[in-house]
Amino acid sequence: MREAWKTQTNLPLVGDLKTEFHRIKREQFPFVMDTTKCATEQVFADLRQALANFFNDINKRKNGKGRKDGKRVGFPKFKSRKRGYGSFSLANDKFTVDGPGIKIPKLGWVNMTEPLRFAGKMMSARVSERAGYWLVSIQVQLPEPEQTAPERVIGVDLGVKALAVDSDGEVFENQKHLTAALRKLRRLNRWLARKQKGSKNWYKAKRKLARLHLRIANLRADATHKLTTRLAAKASIIALETLNVAGMLKNHKLARAIADAAFSEMVRQLGYKAQQVVRVGSFYPSSKTCNACGVVNYALTLSDRTWVCPACGATLDRDLNAARNIRDEGLRLVGAA
Ligand SMILES: [Zn+2]
Repeated sequence: MREAWKTQTNLPLVGDLKTEFHRIKREQFPFVMDTTKCATEQVFADLRQALANFFNDINKRKNGKGRKDGKRVGFPKFKSRKRGYGSFSLANDKFTVDGPGIKIPKLGWVNMTEPLRFAGKMMSARVSERAGYWLVSIQVQLPEPEQTAPERVIGVDLGVKALAVDSDGEVFENQKHLTAALRKLRRLNRWLARKQKGSKNWYKAKRKLARLHLRIANLRADATHKLTTRLAAKASIIALETLNVAGMLKNHKLARAIADAAFSEMVRQLGYKAQQVVRVGSFYPSSKTCNACGVVNYALTLSDRTWVCPACGATLDRDLNAARNIRDEGLRLVGAA
């Protein structure tokens, strides 16, 4: 396929590839006979979609409109069954769920760690593997939830020390088990560095590391979901400051990337959980303005954890002061719109 694209000869049709695959699979890919038909079925649908994305991107580029992030959509890559994330989809008539069990074609009944939490029409399921764990995600159609959050604005100051502080004074702490897992990650990384590359112990450390990375990602996702659900329930409009972590994280590129990713994920979740999200520009000095009298104190440093106003004497937690300023700026922006 890639060759055909490079040499500008006609691309084979995905449908023809599929027919060809079914003709030769018994002889050339006997391993696919051990799995459900659905597993290979989805691959062709995915390929069709990947090609569509690729050609779409080329056309958009011609008209001067690429992806927003400026990245190119590449030609679909070959995926080995041995490397990378493996997964396959099942249409809703191909699996059955009963309590904590799911029946998958060719595998039979498999126990899940918890029963399905949502009652609704099951649309499809995707089985995937991460760091040696098997996961199944089931898409369930649910009625649109009613928006019951009170009609008001809250401001949220996202931080590194605490996860977030809102203008009501609620503090969302970084979870202890996440901090502990991060400490363990540093230890494991050092351990791995001391092992001889390719040795048995090196592979053992690699596997442990992969599992820990997965656990950390899960813990983070859990914390983010709890935070965004809670915030969306508290107020209909949520004001957030466009992240400016430069000062907090210095030039630590990795930490910066992690904070950025966490922030965009929070905004994405609030986008569908809250009625409205207002972004306050990072040029707005939310942490250096007094929420009581409006005076700006540019001399404030990051180590000052408490806001003491040089003009009116107001004394309150630094992050709470910032969250209230973000709320007020959000109110102003909403009023202006
Ligand atoms: Zn003041």
